[in-house]
Amino acid sequence: MLKVQCERPFQFRVLNCEPISRGRGEVLVRVKRVGVCGTDFHAYRGEQPLVTYPRILGHEVAGVVEDVDSGASSLSTGEVVCLFPYRSCGKCKACLRGKPNCCRALDVIGVTSDGGMSDLISVPEDQLVSCNGLDLDQVVIVEPLSIAAHAVRRASVSSGDHVLVIGAGPIGIAVARLAAFRGAHVYITDLRRDRLEAAAQWGGSDQINVIPSDTSLQVVRELTAGNMMEIVFDATGNKQSMESALQYVGHGGCLALVGIAQGSLCYPHPEIHKRELTLLSCRNALRDDFHYVIELMRNKKIVVDGYITHRAMLVDIKHVWTEWELSMQNAVKCVFEV
Ligand SMILES: [Zn+2]
Ligand SMILES: [Zn+2]
Repeated sequence: MLKVQCERPFQFRVLNCEPISRGRGEVLVRVKRVGVCGTDFHAYRGEQPLVTYPRILGHEVAGVVEDVDSGASSLSTGEVVCLFPYRSCGKCKACLRGKPNCCRALDVIGVTSDGGMSDLISVPEDQLVSCNGLDLDQVVIVEPLSIAAHAVRRASVSSGDHVLVIGAGPIGIAVARLAAFRGAHVYITDLRRDRLEAAAQWGGSDQINVIPSDTSLQVVRELTAGNMMEIVFDATGNKQSMESALQYVGHGGCLALVGIAQGSLCYPHPEIHKRELTLLSCRNALRDDFHYVIELMRNKKIVVDGYITHRAMLVDIKHVWTEWELSMQNAVKCVFEV
């Protein structure tokens, strides 16, 4: 079987090894698609502090059940499944309070333990979500869309809210689309104009308004008669952007940070005090978020076209990786077929 190991930073090794069999009490999944996200690029470069090497990356995984204990499982052979990559302890306070996405001992398959860049994976049934009725290209983008869904839910976006999304990457555009589904007036801004247009098109240009970043503050001020936004999402993972995002938030408003930046963020307290700001961090997603996204896909509310922008066979990873890294700016989602 094929296995791609990130041996150490900047080094992938494509291995041909004996096929694995199903682990005790687990489900064997034939991997069909693996999505690549910022975390993977950072891990490859040795810039993801939680990753140790060697590591098999890949946490956005679509596959088909190959082998399962049919008597003990609700899944059956041939069923299309999505990997639910967050493995929580079930015992810590966060887990007990229904927040396993931020478990104290969280393990993320494909980040802190071996993931899906391989022909076959064997995982506990809890780490899979059934996606019957969806095609594999839809299934492979369930995880990133669920992260967006989690953020939108956390920020309690409601009908009529003015919402600004900063950063038109794969998560940002999904946040915009899902916020628009809730009836919000949605605006999106990004440093790159081309990416912004493409993003708005995918997200539904009739519902999502594009604001070029060089005039964004002025435009938001005019649009809202100086009231600014009820909710601002920053999906850039960029410290400077996350800090300056505050100026778009209106009084009584909410700033939701979806990406992650290294180091500290600094906000002037009088500014957050006078707004009585709600500052939210959004980490990963819950199973409910996965189910919500899967349901939207079943109802054809989310399309894959325009979201998956780059595609290659996993075996060719060494040939395409650098090119994909360089094209990160105009890529929405890169996907490997296995
Ligand atoms: Zn990811
Ligand atoms: Zn826990």
